[in-house]
Amino acid sequence: MSKRDYYEVLGVAKGASKDEIKKAYRKLSKQYHPDINKAEDAADKFKEIKEAYEVLSDDQKRAHYDQFGHTDPNQGFGGADFGGGFGGFEDIFNTFFGGGGGRRRDPNAPRQGADLQYTMTLTFEEAVFGKETDIQIPREEECETCHGSGAKPGTNPETCQHCHGSGQINVEQNTPFGRIVNRRTCHHCNGTGKQIKHKCSTCGGAGKVKKRRKIHVKIPAGIDDGQQLRVSGQGEAGINGGPPGDLYVVFHVREHEFFERDGEDIYCEMPITFSQAALGDDVEIPTLHGKVKLKVPAGTQTGTKFRLKGKGVPNVRGYGIGDQHVIVRVITPTKLSDKQKQLLREFAEASGKIPSGGPEDSFFSKVKRAFKGD
Ligand SMILES: [Zn+2]
Ligand SMILES: [Zn+2]
Repeated sequence: MSKRDYYEVLGVAKGASKDEIKKAYRKLSKQYHPDINKAEDAADKFKEIKEAYEVLSDDQKRAHYDQFGHTDPNQGFGGADFGGGFGGFEDIFNTFFGGGGGRRRDPNAPRQGADLQYTMTLTFEEAVFGKETDIQIPREEECETCHGSGAKPGTNPETCQHCHGSGQINVEQNTPFGRIVNRRTCHHCNGTGKQIKHKCSTCGGAGKVKKRRKIHVKIPAGIDDGQQLRVSGQGEAGINGGPPGDLYVVFHVREHEFFERDGEDIYCEMPITFSQAALGDDVEIPTLHGKVKLKVPAGTQTGTKFRLKGKGVPNVRGYGIGDQHVIVRVITPTKLSDKQKQLLREFAEASGKIPSGGPEDSFFSKVKRAFKGD
């Protein structure tokens, strides 16, 4: 990854005055601030501009940069010439600790806040029809007293003297191969590059406070178990003026004792009596949209499926609605009165042992063939 020249980043000449640099920075930082500019690379651009300004606005850093460019070993950037390799006594940079081969992370660059997740349990019907509700979520928000700086109003955080604002310090170690320099997070400022002398009393210097927030959530009809809804910008506060994270509401949908759901379709089993199945009947079926009359034709077998069009679940994106599938189960009576028993015996006599005709015919002929093979 090659780093752009700082003068090029700010669009100024090499010999530009401090004023010119400041003006260029003001203009560009406004243009690319991630709160204003929603382009995908705006945050990176903004970071680059900030970094360039930090160097070019500081006489000492600028002089250093003019002399060494981006390869200044004291900045820990990759691409430094190792010269005599392990034989010499050059500083060997441990590339495993920060900054190796790439760019150093600016501790003060704006970063997006963390995303939050909230699990919500819905009844079967709530998932089908959707609902609007308020939820309470605990989240970190920018402290209103200090506007996120962590410093007492009227004071400002100061640049950390130990790491000079970089958030990292070099730890030197002498080894038989030469001096090894490790970069470590500065523990004086915890890597922020800043020290707060007078801490804000509201947040104790953190710049953030935990708050419980009420958030209105609109759950679309047709949401399903395991699906999630993104509520943009309702996550934790951004860092260094970055945008907030998002809130993800994950749904858990309770089962229903009668209906079963598969996507946009509903399945249910409807018990019918033997006489309803044999003689046919209009059977009332419960659906999510109210009762519906289903015509069960005479001679219906157990396990026969019927479809009630449009009685299923609405598509979560608003594209149509599913169906309800009804599977009928013919229930064999277990408790019979004497009169019922008598009538069934008569019915059996009239039917003969093996019924014939109707859809059951082929099934019984298979049974007959099985007996023959005995
Ligand atoms: Zn505060
Ligand atoms: Zn520090």
